[in-house]
Amino acid sequence: MELENVDKVYPSPKGAVHALQGIDLEIPSEQFLSLLGPSGCGKSTILKLVASLEPLSGGNLRIKGAPVNGAPQGMGVVFQRDILLDWRDILSNVLITAEFKKLDVKSYRERARQLLEMFGLSGFEDRHPWELSGGMRQRAAICRALLDDPELLLMDEPFGALDAMTRDELNFELQRMWLESRKTVLFITHSITEAVYLSDRVALMSRNPGRIAEVIDIDLPRPRP
Ligand code: ADP
Ligand code: ADP
Repeated sequence: MELENVDKVYPSPKGAVHALQGIDLEIPSEQFLSLLGPSGCGKSTILKLVASLEPLSGGNLRIKGAPVNGAPQGMGVVFQRDILLDWRDILSNVLITAEFKKLDVKSYRERARQLLEMFGLSGFEDRHPWELSGGMRQRAAICRALLDDPELLLMDEPFGALDAMTRDELNFELQRMWLESRKTVLFITHSITEAVYLSDRVALMSRNPGRIAEVIDIDLPRPRP
């Protein structure tokens, strides 16, 4: 995934907001990159551009060398607030990805169960989101994003609303998942500890306008699965 000299300007009644300026950022295939920086520096905006939820104002976005146009395939997204549907049980919430992408839902049921097991949600398949804790809901949201085994996983402060202990557990589970089935990950966080623990690379951002201030390679030994 590659951003080249990317600008983003949001129109606004009080004058345009220059959210991003001259962003150059590359995530090599199967690498884990975290974006770290103060509130308002444009982290979420970068994710929205990559997910085609917002148009670029300038520059280029390429995924696997090809410019992105139209709804992107092969991408899973997790937000800080899970968007589980309260009237559906957990299994069918995870399966929404298959419905949304018009895949054969039945053939994904086993995969959905395996993912739920991997994230400690075995036995909760037929529970509803409102019956689960925040940590469990976020685990289900991750399972949903991973259902069709996307090559690219985008996460916007997925653990930001969780208590410290649940957060540590989820960091561990996410790292294990990533070590087992390498994905290209763009991860947004406010936590330096989390970024260093999870990432191959950390991009530090500054604001007004949003820029990449520094990119740091993290060269820590990682456990083998
Ligand atoms: P971060 O995720 O780092 O907190 P954001 O990407 O959410 O930063 O925001 C970057 C800047 O763009 C901020 O100044 C924010 O107020 C502005 N912004 C974000 N979304 C919009 C929008 N839809 N309309 C106008 N301004 C926006
Ligand atoms: P978390 O730390 O994931 O936010 P909680 O502290 O609320 O979770 O709950 C601790 C544990 O209690 C969970 O990991 C789960 O095993 C169990 N639990 C939470 N909600 C339920 C529920 N509705 N039914 C059964 N067990 C639950």
